[in-house]
Amino acid sequence: MALVSIVLPAYNEKENIAIAAKTLTEVLDPLPEEYELLFISDGSRDGTYEEILRVAKDNPHVKGAEFSRNFGKEAAIFAGLELAAGDAVVVMDCDLQHPPSALPEMLEKWRDGAEVVEGIKNSRGRESLGYKLSAGLFYRIMSALIHMDMKASSDYKLLDRKAVAALLELPERRTFFRALSFWVGFRTERVTYDVQERVAGKSKWSMRSLIRYAVSNATSFSTAPLQAVSVMGWVFLLFAVVLGIQTLVRFCMGNAATGFTTVILLLLIIGGLLLVGLGIVGHYIARIYEEVKGRPRYIIRDVTDNLPEQVKGAWKKHDQI
Ligand code: UDP
Ligand code: MG
Repeated sequence: MALVSIVLPAYNEKENIAIAAKTLTEVLDPLPEEYELLFISDGSRDGTYEEILRVAKDNPHVKGAEFSRNFGKEAAIFAGLELAAGDAVVVMDCDLQHPPSALPEMLEKWRDGAEVVEGIKNSRGRESLGYKLSAGLFYRIMSALIHMDMKASSDYKLLDRKAVAALLELPERRTFFRALSFWVGFRTERVTYDVQERVAGKSKWSMRSLIRYAVSNATSFSTAPLQAVSVMGWVFLLFAVVLGIQTLVRFCMGNAATGFTTVILLLLIIGGLLLVGLGIVGHYIARIYEEVKGRPRYIIRDVTDNLPEQVKGAWKKHDQI
């Protein structure tokens, strides 16, 4: 019988574990596939992992792992993909903002031959104005940079084993799941859903972490900012040549005037551009540095008894797990 793995990253989601497990069990029990619910506690500090252990005692479908510290949602998703045994793997938030009611439709499409089923947001649910604006800006920039329409996409996806294997083959340490699942291709179908209210707790993203997420994803998926720097460089070089000729002509004509304003303006503009350019290059060098170190994406502190013991304390690359 086919096995479906549901991967649920959880960071300080103690109140949501039991209800997520219950809701998912109700949705998945009537379906023909076997299933496992794989909670990845991302270094939670509120006893999320203890809650997973507790729920796992009564519900044999529940499995769980805990990171040694907070490695971020991307790392949790990849840990889930690596630990999942399913023929299909679904990634969804454990705050139930990704409605489990969309699961039967996703699985239906998978049975009909889809290898990736993207969850597409009908509506974004209730968010503060600031969040909406910044998320909107982020998606606009990201979509332009990576040439994919990211606005309605989310981390709610079903991946066939083939797509999971392809994703796990990718060597990069810093990942952007949402875009990588487009990148690997495969026969893709879409299922739309309405973002639900969070069941309990607050969103785990702060303004700072969102900005960090945006910069990190942009630099890991696009080199356009680097190209923008060289375009700016060329424009200013052209400008400098024109200005240089004009200055020389004036000098030869004997009226090299006091153009102090121009000098100051040029200094400021070029200085600013240089610093911005250096900053962008710096971001990329930082990424190269991180990738070159080749550290694992995450370290697992503990797993539930129904998962392989050897993944614990991993200082392992994913292909050795
Ligand atoms: N999450 C995580 N690690 C983090 C932050 C979030 O695993 O560092 C999980 C979180 O537990 C939730 C999902 O990622 O299951 C989405 O997070 P959240 O609901 O806070 O984000 P939002 O829905 O507001 O975008
Ligand atoms: Mg949420």
